Amino acid sequence: MSNIYDVIVIGSGPAGYTAAIYSGRANLKTLVFEGWQPGGQLTTTTLVENFPGFKDGIQGPQLMPVMKVQAERFGAEFKASDVTKVDFSTRPFKVYLGEEEFVGKSVIISTGAKARMLGLDSEKRLFAKGVSTCATCDGFFFRDKTVAVIGGGDSAMEEGSFLTKFANKVYIINRTDNFRASDIMLKRAQGNEKIEILPNKMVDEVLGDAKVSGLRLKDSQSGETSEIDIEGMFLAIGHIPVTDLYKDQIELDEHGFVLLKDFTMTSVPGVFAAGDVADDRYRQAITSAGSGCMASIDAKKWLEDNQ
Ligand code: NDP
Repeated sequence: MSNIYDVIVIGSGPAGYTAAIYSGRANLKTLVFEGWQPGGQLTTTTLVENFPGFKDGIQGPQLMPVMKVQAERFGAEFKASDVTKVDFSTRPFKVYLGEEEFVGKSVIISTGAKARMLGLDSEKRLFAKGVSTCATCDGFFFRDKTVAVIGGGDSAMEEGSFLTKFANKVYIINRTDNFRASDIMLKRAQGNEKIEILPNKMVDEVLGDAKVSGLRLKDSQSGETSEIDIEGMFLAIGHIPVTDLYKDQIELDEHGFVLLKDFTMTSVPGVFAAGDVADDRYRQAITSAGSGCMASIDAKKWLEDNQ
């Protein structure tokens, strides 16, 4: 019986932790499955400059444990494990860790998103052998080396700037000359003498046998190919929602994001979603936290109405 919870939160970014803070504080018995990366994507970022309350910014890996401690203070329980299966077909809902079953009267999905890959065989083969999706985690290994960041958004600019702390030279490679990055982040990268921005280039192949030694690039306008020598390739081309677990259980949109039907409620009453898993528009820490709060309030109200 101890495995029965009022709210099971799946995922532990700003959305999941905020949902846990609100649910715990509302006296709901709450369990959070934190997954393989407790704290989520923000634990792989550096300075978060736009989370209200921190006028000088705060490091992502510092912010997330504080959110967790705040949720613990209100009684939320945690498991740093990946849920392996869910069953939302009957109430109460079932959530599994292997053979172990957990029962939730309501569920809040906040599994976020994961790094998008280019889809090249060579990228897969050389993953963790110079190919990385996390500059914060792996930048250290590229001291005095040349690396490339793929992408033209804020993540690419941020990772590129961060990598100049280690690398001698950083290429930022974007498939068009139209950068999604905000002006301030783009200018910061353009003004960094260690960074060279290559617009209109696509990665055709990651070169190297045992580890990355270069990239073959294809010009997106002329089709011409060229090669550059690098030892690390960092992908910063956006994220895809982590929803494989629920694809037969709740409605998703054509890109795999959770469809919200009634505020934060999914197509299954009693199952709610918050954060990047249901948001392809804002994708900010603060909007994720806000939607985690909303999901918790919605879950509490739903529990009261459906006891
Ligand atoms: P974005 O969606 O903003 O940018 C993705 C980039 O990757 C684009 O340049 C896109 O090119 C490119 N891309 C996508 N798919 C491919 C592909 N298959 N091959 C090559 N290039 C590809 O994602 P970000 O992760 O940069 O940012 C997400 C959100 O997070 C944004 O709202 C951003 O502002 C925010 N953010 C804020 C930060 C901060 O303020 N400190 C730091 C990091 C992110 P194209 O334009 O051609 O599609």
